[in-house]
Amino acid sequence: MNYLSTQFIISAANAIQQTILANENTLESLDREIGDGDHYINMKRGAAVIVEMQTELTPLTPDAALHKIGTKLLSTIGGASGPLLASFFMSMAKISKDIGDDSHLKIAAAFASGVEAIRQRGKADIGEKTMLDVLIPVSQQFTLLAAQNCEVKLICATLINTAEQGMLATKSLIATKGRAAGLGERAIGHIDPGAKSCQLMVETVCKLILDKNN
Ligand code: ADP
Ligand code: MG
Repeated sequence: MNYLSTQFIISAANAIQQTILANENTLESLDREIGDGDHYINMKRGAAVIVEMQTELTPLTPDAALHKIGTKLLSTIGGASGPLLASFFMSMAKISKDIGDDSHLKIAAAFASGVEAIRQRGKADIGEKTMLDVLIPVSQQFTLLAAQNCEVKLICATLINTAEQGMLATKSLIATKGRAAGLGERAIGHIDPGAKSCQLMVETVCKLILDKNN
């Protein structure tokens, strides 16, 4: 199956929306602890507008669908996470234009390009207590496993684990980017909300792929 088909992207958006809604308390309280409490609302709104776009997205090629998702998120999600997640999809759209098959290596490259766009836009890196503490390790692991020609089930199971570890690692970090940067050591002991939502999204998409492979 092609994981970069428009149909798969739409299924993933639906699954992500369910996950976000199911994690309202977690996401809201994490951002209340070290941010301004709006992260759940931002993610909920972002997921809803993408799901509402289903009929508009269906006839599009995957790259055009990803681009449309990116531009929509840019104008919909407020806060720091909006433009960051938007740049992920817009960059992934650019590189996935050439992807005609479901080669894991090509999908890993498109994912890496999206993560790199977040890194550049946010001027942040790993270890700064942001969503990148999940996305960078996941991207690196994905590229590695794809290069080793691993089977899809192993890739998904590993990435779920990598995302979880990255998310948990933010707990002991001081934030040097984003709103929590002003808190200094008071941020220690709290998981970064953006890292949590990215971990949940990685897990959701990987589980969707695992389900389709059973
Ligand atoms: P805001 O911080 O504007 O209220 P959100 O609450 O929606 O926006 O998102 C906060 C999340 O955005 C943080 O938990 C962090 O993961 C992520 N974030 C903030 N700034 C950056 C940055 N410069 N680079 C990467 N991620 C960032
Ligand atoms: Mg916030």
